[in-house]
Amino acid sequence: MIEDWKSILKESITRPEQILDKFNVDINPIKSVVEKYPMFISRYYFDLIEEVEDPIWKQCIPSPLELQDPYGYEDPLNEEEDSPVPGLVHRYPDRVLMCISNSCATYCRFCTRKRKVGKPLISFSKDLYLAQINYVRENTSIRDVLLSGGDPFMLPDDTIELLLKKLRVIPHVEILRIGSRIPCTLPQRVTPRLCKILKKYHPLYVNVHFEHPNEITEESERACGLLADAGIPLGNQSVLLRGVNDNPETMKNLFQKLLKIRVKPYYLFQMDLVKGTYHFRTRVEVGMKILEALIGWTSGLAIPRFVIDAPGGGGKIPLQPDYILSIDDEKVILRNYEGKIYVYPQIPAEEKEERIPLKIQQKVVKWRAI
Ligand SMILES: *Cc1c(COP(=O)(O)O)cnc(C)c1O
Ligand code: SF4
Repeated sequence: MIEDWKSILKESITRPEQILDKFNVDINPIKSVVEKYPMFISRYYFDLIEEVEDPIWKQCIPSPLELQDPYGYEDPLNEEEDSPVPGLVHRYPDRVLMCISNSCATYCRFCTRKRKVGKPLISFSKDLYLAQINYVRENTSIRDVLLSGGDPFMLPDDTIELLLKKLRVIPHVEILRIGSRIPCTLPQRVTPRLCKILKKYHPLYVNVHFEHPNEITEESERACGLLADAGIPLGNQSVLLRGVNDNPETMKNLFQKLLKIRVKPYYLFQMDLVKGTYHFRTRVEVGMKILEALIGWTSGLAIPRFVIDAPGGGGKIPLQPDYILSIDDEKVILRNYEGKIYVYPQIPAEEKEERIPLKIQQKVVKWRAI
């Protein structure tokens, strides 16, 4: 019998003293962090911790390093500026991000929206939802609506259904997406009832959020299976986290395990410049090395796109190791994953065709620090 998610949430870990039930550590440093950045851990996720400072611990237990961040910004992606209606971010031409919830089943210490988590800047109400939906209705270029948060699955079934129903009837909205960490941090929330609701609003995509192979359990497998059985294509977004998953072996293991639970790795994010998360940041080369260790060596399906969400709000920029050694009118010289060299002959270029290398636009957009 699967435990009821609401009763699991009632036993969440929110006070540093509760950590002592399982681990013998000095909680005083944790107490001072919690005053600034609240702690909330579902009992399910807390139980995945095997030992102090393991990859699960680092993701959810407050660290004194959060208060010693020399850099970082409250809103590194400048989301507030691209927000025509509270909670709604319209940055790309054909899609919007709609934040509909303030709460999460576990507060991730590295969260990009750390400024909001646990201390809501927006109070969501039916009126606010209607204002967000109106914006979508009035902007016919929006063909893709991405529901995010916080975690949308923290809302009651009825609210989720109401939002999906209202968005689904807008003729220009082709696809709906939900981004949720719940299949990882509180998989019991994914119930047959929820899936029955979701499947009425296809085409609906869900992006889940796993960071480490230890998060793939029987329960998370069951949750992803239920969503997949409801016809929902599942993608995964991971963040590259120092000391958690910043090496090729862990990542390969994670991505291969995700495919086994029917989830396709979608994005791997370089850490955003969020205040209080400096200790999670890696150098960009680390992510490139991870991709090199995957491309060609394992299924293409297991390989996400590695991106930097541009500081200041430029959107996601893809990064890839370079496989082109040279390119000219006659041929492209390439290396394969093993470092062997290959030549691909070009067809003759048309007169007016743009020649490669393309001129890189020199315009550098300087980011106004917030
Ligand atoms: C990530 C993001 C999206 C979705 O981007 P995709 O590349 O289509 O997955 C949309 N809006 C905002 C503001 C985002 O940050
Ligand atoms: S679940 Fe998502 S929004 Fe919530 S704390 Fe984690 S990363 Fe942030």
